[in-house]
Amino acid sequence: MTDEAADHVARWVRPEIRALSAYHVPDASGLIKLDAMENPYGWPAELREEWAALARATAVNRYPDPRAQPLKDALRAAMNIPAAAGILLGNGSDEIIQTIALALAGPDRTVLTVEPGFVMYRMIATFAGMRYCGVPLRAADFALDLPALRAAIEAHRPAVVFLAQPNNPTGNCFDEAALFEVIEAVPGLVVVDEAYAPFTDASLLPRVGEWPNLLVMRTVSKMGLAGLRLGYLAGPAAWLDELDKVRLPYNVNVLTQRAAELALRHKAVLDAQTAAIRTERAVLHGALATLPGVTPYPSEANFILVRVPAGRAGALFAGLRERGVLVKNLHGGHPLLADCLRVTVGTPQENAAFLAAFAACLEGGTAGRG
Ligand SMILES: *Cc1c(COP(=O)(O)O)cnc(C)c1O
Repeated sequence: MTDEAADHVARWVRPEIRALSAYHVPDASGLIKLDAMENPYGWPAELREEWAALARATAVNRYPDPRAQPLKDALRAAMNIPAAAGILLGNGSDEIIQTIALALAGPDRTVLTVEPGFVMYRMIATFAGMRYCGVPLRAADFALDLPALRAAIEAHRPAVVFLAQPNNPTGNCFDEAALFEVIEAVPGLVVVDEAYAPFTDASLLPRVGEWPNLLVMRTVSKMGLAGLRLGYLAGPAAWLDELDKVRLPYNVNVLTQRAAELALRHKAVLDAQTAAIRTERAVLHGALATLPGVTPYPSEANFILVRVPAGRAGALFAGLRERGVLVKNLHGGHPLLADCLRVTVGTPQENAAFLAAFAACLEGGTAGRG
């Protein structure tokens, strides 16, 4: 039976899907979790109480409001989305990437992005049966390589270009003038992914509508609501009306709608948390820069990319885990990420624990290496 099933799978599941490995989420139980860019602060007690009352009053036997208009209105006000822009909601911004890919997919249609970058762009291009082109960033500073981008855009005429600003996993913001050049050179759509907007002053959201092919995508995940799964896309209504046809009707569930509305009414709480993370980011960066052989890259996000002494990323990652701290090992993911780890900025206590463990691992490794 199993063999027969395997035969069916081999015959019917597309080879490019069989070649993928599923998105891997490591077990973090008992560990200080600094691997996934989560906000380490939960909701204060009053907010939890308010949420409990709202949840009690929510009719889960009914389908959610498919348009989620109150939530869109709350987002427009809280995030200063321009009045002329349309809004589309997703079950996380990952789902929005998928919606865009499904709407634009076709033979010879290409998704173009930069590398190292957010891995879901490539995965979703594959799900949707699209071609994929990843243009390397500049090795020295992870800036956009404009000549390489221009050449790739000319060669592939991409249907859609995804650029994360700031970029994950490098943490830097791209030069705005360079972004504008890309927007103007691309024949198709450009999606600027502002997942880390709470941690930077850079944003193109106020400028949606200025280019006919620019959409700005955001998420509430990194600002402290990762468990809700809510992303939003802003841009010209002509684009969003078409994308909305591909969106599944009830993609944002009723509990998420109510909880996000509540959180946005108390946005000052989240703003204070993200401001604290920005402050802590500078402290953590400064401390990392004092460690021997370690290079922390500049970051405008809630994580820091760290280059460690050559050949030691795997052992340092494992040593940190043994000492109770989970970070992300990026070594092997892309040539430009050789010997790199990525650490999410946590609470001051978590960051101190990470730094102590990291320093201990670095010393231990030096002593033990032949
Ligand atoms: C985390 C992340 C996302 C995914 O956000 P969700 O809304 O949680 O799906 C999208 N883009 C980038 C660049 C990210 O780092």
